Amino acid sequence: MKIGKYSLGIGDRFGHQGEAQLRAIMKAEAAGFDVVPVWNKSNREHSYIHSKPDDTRIEADAAVKALSFSRAYFVDADHINLSNVNGFIAASDFFTLDVASKIGTSSNDEQISEFVSSCKKYSGILNIPGIDHPFNVSDQLLKNITLKFLAAIAEAGKIYNHILEQKGADHFVTEVSMDEVETPQTPVEMFFILKMIADQGIPVQTIAPKFTGRFNKGVDYVGDVAQFSREFEEDVLVIDFAVKEFGLPENLKLSVHSGSDKFSIYPVISQIIKKYDKGIHVKTAGTTWLEEVIGLALAGGEALELAKQIYKNALERQEELCAPYADVIDIKQNELPSAIEVDQWGSEKFANTLRHIPGHPDYNPNLRQLIHVGYKIASESGTKYTGLLEKHYDLIGSCVEENLFDRHLKRLFGL
Ligand SMILES: [Zn+2]
Repeated sequence: MKIGKYSLGIGDRFGHQGEAQLRAIMKAEAAGFDVVPVWNKSNREHSYIHSKPDDTRIEADAAVKALSFSRAYFVDADHINLSNVNGFIAASDFFTLDVASKIGTSSNDEQISEFVSSCKKYSGILNIPGIDHPFNVSDQLLKNITLKFLAAIAEAGKIYNHILEQKGADHFVTEVSMDEVETPQTPVEMFFILKMIADQGIPVQTIAPKFTGRFNKGVDYVGDVAQFSREFEEDVLVIDFAVKEFGLPENLKLSVHSGSDKFSIYPVISQIIKKYDKGIHVKTAGTTWLEEVIGLALAGGEALELAKQIYKNALERQEELCAPYADVIDIKQNELPSAIEVDQWGSEKFANTLRHIPGHPDYNPNLRQLIHVGYKIASESGTKYTGLLEKHYDLIGSCVEENLFDRHLKRLFGL
């Protein structure tokens, strides 16, 4: 089972926006760009919402059927590991093997020396076609990379084989992710990681490294765009070389776990993949939920009240809500509007403050990040929330569609 060249991860926390999301994908198709939709949802999201992987499958299948979408689509078991993969096996055909927590854990000495000696060919000066500077692969560097990553990739092998036994080869797409860590992987680390993946026999089609800079949830990239661009381009070239050297799947591509809305690096990604005629997978997740809150605000009345209530509760429960996302949010306390202030807002003011339009005078990335991590509150309000989603289905759907097409797909693929 092969994934197409361009694919977009379209998480949908509450499972109501499948059709709106697919409409955005079909708009890109009409504009000449075939993007494969991948409905991704992590175990954490399922546990907060009390949903199951089967629900994501039902949503995806229903949206595809309703819109007579005829191309391939996938359901991604996002950031799974051996302890939680079983619940995803039946419903998913895309598996993101998250081995970040195993980085730096130990392997036995024999495995370490075996890997190091298998890399002899690459030690010393390593030239990667297309990269204008050579890498100096010293014995120490090779050993450090092995110590850091070998156990993690061995774990990926275990998860892959576990899925393989149950689903059979060619019934799923495999991604390996290491993005949820503090230190970015360098291009040379990526090269040897890919060798480890090939040695494990994992037919990896997408790989998600940690890139340089901050990928805070739902807001723009924070970091050095020029440096990101350099590293991203080198990663693309490293993958190209590794595919040939190690016999990995030819369509292997980078997966950018964007945390959504990395508008300032979308054009960089777009330009580099065009330059080398490469594919890309970009995961967006939270912004569909934020568009639901925007849609509720625009609907006014009790829906606007609920949107305000979600924010006000999130303000009170900040510590609890932010804790699991501490590494991927950056909220300036003194720039969060108070509950009293928000109470006075009308629909437009609320929507404009939350909606990510760079440069809009009302846009507030602090409020946006806080609401981003506040979906647990909506989940707690149960059918009150989902009932209003259904009541304002068309309005909310148009927000979701516009966000995905106008703010994401257009920027990503230069449409
Ligand atoms: Zn991720």
